[in-house]
Amino acid sequence: MIVTGHETQGAARRQGHGLRVAGLVFCTLMVVAGCKSAPVAEAAPVASNAPEASYEITLRPELDAAGEVEAIAVTSRLQGGLKDGETRLKLSAPVVYVNVMGIADRILDLRVTDEAGPVEFTLEQDDPVPGGFPYFRHWTATRDVEFPLDIRYRALVQPEGEPPGPAFGIRPSKGGVSGAGAGYMIVPVNAESSQSLLEWDLTEFGPGAVGVTTFGEGRVLVSGPPAALMQGWLMAGPAGQYPPAEEESHFRAYWLGDFPFDVAAEMDYAKDLYDFFGEFFAYLDPAPDYRVFLRQLDTEPYGGATALANSFMLSRGPALQEEMGGQSPRSTLAHEMIHMWVGRLSGQHVLTNWFSEGLTTYYEYTVPFRAGRVSIDEYIAGLNGLSDRYYSNPARAMSAAEIGQVGFNDGRIRHAPYQRGAFYFADLDSRIRAASGGARNLDMLLREVFALRESGEVDLTIEAWSDFVSQELGQEEEAFVRGLHIDGQLIYPAGDGFGACVTGDTATLEEGGETYSGMHWRRVEGVAPEDCFATGAAN
Ligand SMILES: [Zn+2]
Repeated sequence: MIVTGHETQGAARRQGHGLRVAGLVFCTLMVVAGCKSAPVAEAAPVASNAPEASYEITLRPELDAAGEVEAIAVTSRLQGGLKDGETRLKLSAPVVYVNVMGIADRILDLRVTDEAGPVEFTLEQDDPVPGGFPYFRHWTATRDVEFPLDIRYRALVQPEGEPPGPAFGIRPSKGGVSGAGAGYMIVPVNAESSQSLLEWDLTEFGPGAVGVTTFGEGRVLVSGPPAALMQGWLMAGPAGQYPPAEEESHFRAYWLGDFPFDVAAEMDYAKDLYDFFGEFFAYLDPAPDYRVFLRQLDTEPYGGATALANSFMLSRGPALQEEMGGQSPRSTLAHEMIHMWVGRLSGQHVLTNWFSEGLTTYYEYTVPFRAGRVSIDEYIAGLNGLSDRYYSNPARAMSAAEIGQVGFNDGRIRHAPYQRGAFYFADLDSRIRAASGGARNLDMLLREVFALRESGEVDLTIEAWSDFVSQELGQEEEAFVRGLHIDGQLIYPAGDGFGACVTGDTATLEEGGETYSGMHWRRVEGVAPEDCFATGAAN
């Protein structure tokens, strides 16, 4: 996957999906997966003047004759200078960004000017990366530039009919537009600017339109280099809002389109879960303000659910008749929010997403149940569904590298690390409880590890993670971790891995006329759901 070397610039970025590609930091997520992207940027209401080295950017959605957004016009001013040692201004834009194709080709009318007039550029392009993962086009100025300089362009919306993938592409819907910065932006990559001021021009919309990003509503400061702007969701236009605009809240949602569920009621559910997660994971205290973006598109690609820093986007197609009056995909909402606390390991994405996705999936299945929001019957049905998908997955014994090569071309294969990762953590919980006589569990270990990662005291690599577990168990872990997640061995988790109220046995599973050796989960009579994860005294 794209994510080659993890970049650590400051504690805020430490647990994000930072990946460094040609000087940019990117976050790659997945459909119904996600990325706890680093809060590379923190937003705050803007009161003061921008600092000397800064990037001011205004986004103006443009409508076509039919009232649909056709482009976002960007005007920006770069103040300050180039970074030390840099001689020529460089800009970059993705050619492909997580299966969104042709982004750089949709950037039109690029004009960069300084006091001396227009700046010309030479172009270079990275080699394509398999699996739909990002690669970039690079612009290098042919002369020295004077600061400040202006960068203007128009970015066309992503056309319909492109391949499926996360909702990074900017798409029109219901008179507005949504997507992510990575889906349309070209940014300066070697300027010293460490803060951006993002502003909206919503004049083409009617009254009441909103312009909002992961970083906040309306005019916001975003700390970090200009590329930090790429790591935010955006939505602009006549969007629905939760709670009503005049109400204070640390949890907000914005949506464009029609949904088969009551969005406000489902956001009540999500907010309640978010608050529960905040107390459960505890180490982000207080949990940051959170934003949910929901969009319904009339044409493919419909997208999926993907998390960026303290926000996620749920993107979908038109509702089916049988969905009407139902619930939102609640386990998906849980999954995307949990990403923020789980974060990631440092290192290449394909070699580490068993942790970010596996642990997020483990908690997606267990925490809403532990919170009492999911019944024990639903809980057990969920575990059996997870087992079925894992043991029948054609990638169940594939290595991480092979899965990475397939990338976004096959959703089943791409999700294998989610499933075996979830079973690894369930099994690990059992092993920790056994090794400690019931005094310790996975949650306790993770709280300690997350706090150390957050404070910057540990760079959480595969080796560092394995060392924590080895210490916890009194037994070497790294070979097991590598054999399972990197080489693709099968795992049959301990029968008590999902709590004392359920038990798992090896079983022959059938799927599509074929049989697989897998696991079946059933209730343990006499153990109440609320006692399922009780800790403490030996039990
Ligand atoms: Zn995920």
